[in-house]
Amino acid sequence: MVRKYLENYFYDLTSNHLYKKSVDLATPHRKCLLKEDLINLVKKNHALDHRKSHSIYESIRRFVFPVVRENVKLLFDLYVDCDQCKSAISLPKTERTRRPIPATYPNSRWQIDLKKMPPHKGFQYICNIVDCFSRFAFGQACKTKSATEISKVVLSYIYLYGAPRILQSDNGKES
Ligand SMILES: [Zn+2]
Repeated sequence: MVRKYLENYFYDLTSNHLYKKSVDLATPHRKCLLKEDLINLVKKNHALDHRKSHSIYESIRRFVFPVVRENVKLLFDLYVDCDQCKSAISLPKTERTRRPIPATYPNSRWQIDLKKMPPHKGFQYICNIVDCFSRFAFGQACKTKSATEISKVVLSYIYLYGAPRILQSDNGKES
């Protein structure tokens, strides 16, 4: 019984490590790790690109033994103490909808964007508005990117073409 069990392992003298024998040609022999080694491996793997426990598990499961998803998660939570990750988590996350908003008729959605231009006669921005259904674009030059000035531009086009159901902007990331 014990012999049968031991047959699944071999000791490699060059690297001084115990390996669990691979059962098929597609997988390599898996190195048997002590808890300490596994912790270090998890830490090293995290340092690569701040990956989370499930990606660490996916990248080491083919090469080491024993490795269980729950254990990796446990060791990850207990021993990976990464300042960069902690400060990243504490940042507020903006909720973003991944659902595309289809434009099915004219004026169903306008996209508004500001573009900074070289100053000319006090004008510095182009306020560009596109109707997403017809791709019809309109807009005008602006002196500032203040909400007051931009809203006047938008309002003038609402008087011309009617109000869009959705006015979509990139929340002022332009510079
Ligand atoms: Zn990290």
